[in-house]
Amino acid sequence: MLINGQWTDALSGETLDVENPGRKTIVGTVPRGHGEDVDAAVNAASKAFDAWRKVAPRDRGKILLSIATALEQQVEPMALAIATETGNAIRTQARPEAGAAADIFRFFGGLASELKGEQIPLNENMLSYSRREPIGVVGAIIPWNAPVLLAALKIAPALCAGNTMVLKTAEDAPLGVLLLARVAQEFLPDGVLNVLTGLGHECGAAIAEHPQIRKLSFTGSTSVGKSIMRAASDRIAPVSLELGGKSPSIVFPDANEDWVVDGIVTAMRFTRQSQSCTAGSRLFLHEDIFEPFLEKLAGRAAALKMGDPLDEATDMGAIINKKQFDKVCGYIDEGLALPDARLVTGGMPDTEGPLSEGYFSHPTIFADGSNDWRLAREEIFGPVLVAIKWRDEAEVIRMANDSHYGLAAFVWSRDIGQALRTAHQVEAGWVQVNQGIGQLPGQSYGGTKQSGIGREYSLESMLDSFTQKKSVTVNLDIPAPPAP
Ligand code: ADP
Repeated sequence: MLINGQWTDALSGETLDVENPGRKTIVGTVPRGHGEDVDAAVNAASKAFDAWRKVAPRDRGKILLSIATALEQQVEPMALAIATETGNAIRTQARPEAGAAADIFRFFGGLASELKGEQIPLNENMLSYSRREPIGVVGAIIPWNAPVLLAALKIAPALCAGNTMVLKTAEDAPLGVLLLARVAQEFLPDGVLNVLTGLGHECGAAIAEHPQIRKLSFTGSTSVGKSIMRAASDRIAPVSLELGGKSPSIVFPDANEDWVVDGIVTAMRFTRQSQSCTAGSRLFLHEDIFEPFLEKLAGRAAALKMGDPLDEATDMGAIINKKQFDKVCGYIDEGLALPDARLVTGGMPDTEGPLSEGYFSHPTIFADGSNDWRLAREEIFGPVLVAIKWRDEAEVIRMANDSHYGLAAFVWSRDIGQALRTAHQVEAGWVQVNQGIGQLPGQSYGGTKQSGIGREYSLESMLDSFTQKKSVTVNLDIPAPPAP
């Protein structure tokens, strides 16, 4: 772990194994951090804060830009680490993720001069201005599904704004983030960035509850997000939460085309085993195109090459761990047992052959679905798509919004007026029209309803999530000093 610029073990000496889910083999061992390690990291971050906040913003930005350049040189080792520990395919996922992490440092490094306040014309004889000040020690907790990218997305804006950080990696995917931290530490003063490895209920909970942590930034499940918010409420610490989703993809009858089919495959994040909170996992297909569209989609999904994440030819890798694999199998099993569900492609994983050597789950599509099925309501975080038929616009919007989640949505139509009308009515933090790509630096990204609070990826997100505004009002009309 990285604490105060030093690479250390856990004080207890305990460790955790890291598994390659594509091969079910142990590939590394990391410290199992506890509350006492969190204390040490928070002390280091608190000590470093005073000096770091006073570094001129553009100089902090230059440091981030140097980290970006160094990370660009480390894309291959980071990609290898990501693919090995997450099971995400190196060509389609891990390498792009490593590159995106470097790009995030470059993006925020260039924004340091934008940490501006405002001047407010309250009165002719009063100067009122605001300052954007850092909050202090930020506690960040990240999941395993895009670990290096999400680490960058917390570290870069928080440090750019003058905060220091204690970040906990996910227990399943710490190795890539430790590599990123090793690169970043070459440029940062000791204690500005501290990275811990450990379990959620031990190390993570200690971060959530730590009185000296002034802000919490969490990405993960909605249930843990609620516990983070409860812990923060004890000390009225601000939180940013990027949580789960069950995102709708709405296809209009004029969009029965191959590029839309490809777009649905991308939106569903099949090549990340759909282990993405933005996955468009509820597919609303208009009744006029239901069967022909589904047939093309099933063909595309079944053609994805699933296998060893480290093989350049692989499109789709493995599910992260046994627990998640069993959970996904449970949903597939439930779909197979539903009398009114039709399996279009996929199904239960192989029990023999090469794909039984890792946690591999076929892209699976159930049709004739109901928006009320558990399969259509709960976040599966696996490659299981439910196709639901719709007839009129009002009905599909009602079904799309009938979810406690509100993260992403996708609308597909050549009629842009119709598509935008729909986009404006869907309850989601991010709606894409005629594409299903991943987030890009510059856009504000985050959820509504139980998908979260706060935004990431943008200048505004850095200002809103990682600074606090201070107003200074100055009387310009003080009486003349008394005569001597
Ligand atoms: P996922 O299902 O994606 O693993 P989780 O919400 O369980 O999502 O985990 C996301 C991150 O939250 C991980 O780093 C995990 O260790 C951490 N975590 C899990 N439980 C807690 C908890 N009770 N308090 C703080 N962090 C936790």
